[in-house]
Amino acid sequence: MTTLRLYNSLTRMVEDFAPLDADKGVRVYSCGPTVYSDPHLGNLRAYVFTDTLARVLRWKGYPLTHVINITDVGHLTSDADAGDDKMEAAAKKRGQSAWDIAAHYTAVFKGNLSDLNIGDPSVWSVATDHIDEMIDFAARIAPAHCYEIDSGLYFDSSTVPDYGRLAGGQDDAGESRIDPVSGKRHPQDFAIWRKTPPGETRQMEWDSPWGRGAPGWHLECSVMSGKYLGFPFDIHTGGIDHREIHHPNEIAQNQAFCGCTAPEGVAAGFTGARFWMHNNFLVDRTGKLSKSKGSVATLEALKAAGVHPLSYRLMCLSAHYRSELEFGAEQVLAAQTRLKRLVMAVHRLRIAQATNTDEFEPLDNYVQGGAEFGTLLESFEKAICDDLNTPRALALLELLVSKQDYPTGRLATLAKYDEALGLRLTTLSREALRVRPADAALTAADIDSRLAERREARAAKDFARSDAIRDELTAAGVEVMDGDPLGWDWRPTL
Ligand code: AMP
Ligand code: ZN
Repeated sequence: MTTLRLYNSLTRMVEDFAPLDADKGVRVYSCGPTVYSDPHLGNLRAYVFTDTLARVLRWKGYPLTHVINITDVGHLTSDADAGDDKMEAAAKKRGQSAWDIAAHYTAVFKGNLSDLNIGDPSVWSVATDHIDEMIDFAARIAPAHCYEIDSGLYFDSSTVPDYGRLAGGQDDAGESRIDPVSGKRHPQDFAIWRKTPPGETRQMEWDSPWGRGAPGWHLECSVMSGKYLGFPFDIHTGGIDHREIHHPNEIAQNQAFCGCTAPEGVAAGFTGARFWMHNNFLVDRTGKLSKSKGSVATLEALKAAGVHPLSYRLMCLSAHYRSELEFGAEQVLAAQTRLKRLVMAVHRLRIAQATNTDEFEPLDNYVQGGAEFGTLLESFEKAICDDLNTPRALALLELLVSKQDYPTGRLATLAKYDEALGLRLTTLSREALRVRPADAALTAADIDSRLAERREARAAKDFARSDAIRDELTAAGVEVMDGDPLGWDWRPTL
């Protein structure tokens, strides 16, 4: 059996993975979305990554407890202590309550995950459901690690060993060096509890020993990961931006909390989790995709343009999670074409299976580890165990379906591959992958009838008419694709 190896941001090395406590299975915490606006495709890349990790852990036979949080309070417009609370700011801007905004965007986020075939975690933990626990946690660490100033309770980063080790020297040179909070002892100190300024009220605020206010953003993840998984747990994930501020701050809190609660203190190197894993960014030509950029690429926008959500999933899998991935219409259409080729290959295998008469051929070859399928399954396992090498896994998938002999063995192997890849290859129809923009000037039926007319014109060698129909379709945003081997005779120009 191949050992699962994963890149650990703490050591900047790929390391062998084994659960810390086999009786507890594998315990994973993933930083969730801040639910103040539609998630963009970059955010969703983070959850395609965590879903792939969860699938691979299950593939390896580990029972899994996976927690994803919903941040509905405390995250400021900067990851450090600058700016407004994102939820309060969105509520003000839109004239809605922060609670309604949170409920709406939580539902949008979960809908997006379901479209991407990302399974529910074992626990969805919502920050505002854990305020009492956050106050208890803060009260425990406060005497030895925190200080109170006018604006709230702050964590003194000099009270824990090795503060910022995870950031690996690339600490938040941008954000926390701009020190907007007067009275902080060190620029990298961070808010544990933020008091509501005198004379103001916030929509989301609670009483605490440090006055009425709201928790700092980093606190929630320490509290909820500790509550549901217990310290230390196996894997903590997030986007690579979290490596610089949010996760170092969580680590500092975890060290403080576990040091306070264990009489012997915490061991050197304790961070609260064994592995810290980070996905790289989805970028566009101008840099990292972010919600603050004007027009935001969302899954809903992709769907409205006629792109199937699983094409975006495939696009994510085609790059290693630690590489930057460039987003653009061409890339996503290429992924959709690649997915359609795979679905057509599965279709051909099904036909081959239905017409196969060799009674000795089926599954035996695969079950008994016969050379070809045994090897293909082993190579696939090696790929996914090599720090989730999905680009290689996809190449092996394409190799598997490139021939139609032994169709039963191939289809069984394919179903096993898809447990890790989550592309729904055994149920996805070719029709579902036909790009169909919601706001197209012409319906699919209109386009098909215009194309039928064009075929007639060509058969009659009336090329002027056939070209005119093509030009008319181009003007309506439809690209005509003559002789397309995938049977797509048109696609929209995104
Ligand atoms: P947020 O909703 O901003 O708290 O982010 C949710 C997740 O998306 C976090 O794990 C972020 O690190 C991650 N993330 C944010 N922007 C990107 C991006 N452009 N590409 C990949 N992941 C991202
Ligand atoms: Zn977090």
